[in-house]
Amino acid sequence: MNNYSREWVRLPQVEQFLQLACIQPYIALLSRPLVTQIVREHFKTVRHDKNRQHSGHQWLEADVCRLLSQRLHVRQSRVINATGTIIHTNLGRSPISSKLWQQVSDVNTHYSNLELALNTGKRGQRKGLVAELLGLLTGADDSLVVNNNACSVYLIILALAQGKEVIVSRGEQIQIGGGFRIPDILAMSGAKLVEVGTTNVTTCDDYINAITENTAMVLLVHQSNFVIRGFTESVDIRQLKAKLPANVILAVDQGSGVSTESFCPQEKAIGRYIQYGADLVCFSGDKILGGPQAGIVCGRNDLIKVLEKNPMMRAFRPGRIILSLLEALLIEKLNQHEAGKGISETLLERLPLTKALAEKLASHLPNKAEVITLTAVVGGGTLPDCDYPCYGVAISGEAKRISEQFRACSVPVIGVISHGRFILNLAGVTEDDFEILLKQFCILFPAQKPEIKWVATK
Ligand SMILES: *Cc1c(COP(=O)(O)O)cnc(C)c1O
Repeated sequence: MNNYSREWVRLPQVEQFLQLACIQPYIALLSRPLVTQIVREHFKTVRHDKNRQHSGHQWLEADVCRLLSQRLHVRQSRVINATGTIIHTNLGRSPISSKLWQQVSDVNTHYSNLELALNTGKRGQRKGLVAELLGLLTGADDSLVVNNNACSVYLIILALAQGKEVIVSRGEQIQIGGGFRIPDILAMSGAKLVEVGTTNVTTCDDYINAITENTAMVLLVHQSNFVIRGFTESVDIRQLKAKLPANVILAVDQGSGVSTESFCPQEKAIGRYIQYGADLVCFSGDKILGGPQAGIVCGRNDLIKVLEKNPMMRAFRPGRIILSLLEALLIEKLNQHEAGKGISETLLERLPLTKALAEKLASHLPNKAEVITLTAVVGGGTLPDCDYPCYGVAISGEAKRISEQFRACSVPVIGVISHGRFILNLAGVTEDDFEILLKQFCILFPAQKPEIKWVATK
C-alpha cells in the first residue's frame, strides 16, 4: 500500500461528497447505489495514483461528474436521428406514435384481459383482435405474434420442418445485421438446408427439381439489405405455388412488413404474397409497419395453429405492452389515421420540408454550415434499392470532434461523417426533434448570437 500518496490526497467522505449540488441530480437519474459505486471506485483510483497528489477537490468533482454523465449516456435515452436512415436498428427502429402510446396506457397500467375471454369467463387467446385486424390488412386467415422476426423464422422452421428439408435459393442466403443468418437458423432448428439456383438466378424448376419425399418447405427470403442488379431472375410465386406438391409449405420471410404503403411500389406487400399463394408470410413489427419490436406470422389457419402449439411459443410470446400497441396501431392503420402510419410513411411524406429546415439551421451559422442535398433511405434491412431526395446541413470543422459534441448534447444528436465532413441529414428529424436540434445547435455554436425563434413548418 502506498501511504505516501494517501497522505497527500485528502479525500472527502463519500456520504458528504454525495451531498454536493453537482452530484445530487445523478442520484435520481442513476440510483444512489450506482452513484455511490462510481464515486467509491473513482476515490480508489485517486488514492492509488501518485500523479494526483496536487489535484484539489474541484478537479475531483469535475472528474466524478464526467464519469457520471458518461454512465448516464449508457441509460436508454431519446436521441435525434440525423443519419438519413429512417429505420435505424441502432436507434431503436420505429418510434411509436405518442397517440398510440397514450391509447395503451390504461390497459398496461392496470390488470387486463390478456388471457381471459370476457364473453365466456374462460381462458382466452392472448392475441386479442390482432389476428383479425391483420386478416383485414393482409387477407390472411390467421396470424400470430412473437418477439421479433428472427423468432418468426425460427419458429416456422422448428415447428414445421424439423428433421426435414427446407429449400432456399442461393441468392437468398442472407445475413441481416448482427449475425442473423438463414443457414444458421435452419441448422439450429434441426432442418436440413437444400440450396438451389445461383446467386443471381433461381427458377421455378430449380425449386421443383430439388423436392424429395423429405421436403417440408420452400422458404423465400426477402433480400432485405442488398440488391443484385443486372441479369437476375427470381421466382414467380404464383407459378411456384401451382407446381408445388400440396404437402410442401411455401413460406416467405418478407421482413419489412410493407402492407398498404405507397412509397415503395416495387416492394411486394404481405397481402400480395398471401394472394399469390404463400402459406405463411413473416415480417418485423418495427420496420415499415411502424410498431413495437415484434415478429408477425400471417397465413394459413391450420399452420398458425401448429406454430402456436409448439412449446417454444411459450418462450417467444410477447407481453401485453407489445400486443396492445400492435392492436392500437392496426386499428389506426385500417382507419387510415395519422397515428396508424408508420414512421417511414410519416417521414417520407415530410421530406420536401427538410429544405426549409436545413436553411433555417444553416442560417444560424452562415460561415460554417452549408445546406446540401442528400438522400434518405428507409433502412433497417428494408427497401435496399430506394433513395429518397432530402436536405441536410454540412458543418465545416473537425468532423469527429463535432460529431462527439452533438452526441454529448442533452438530447444526443446522431449525424454522419461523409467525405471528412459532419452532416446532419434532416430526413429522420421529426417536428419536435427539430425544435430541440435548433436550440442545441445554437448552444454548440454560440458565436453568431442567433435569435432563437421557432416557426411552425406545416
Ligand atoms: C429484418 C429482417 C429479419 C430480422 O428481423 P428482426 O425483427 O430484426 O428479428 C429477418 N428477415 C428479414 C428478411 C428481415 O428483413
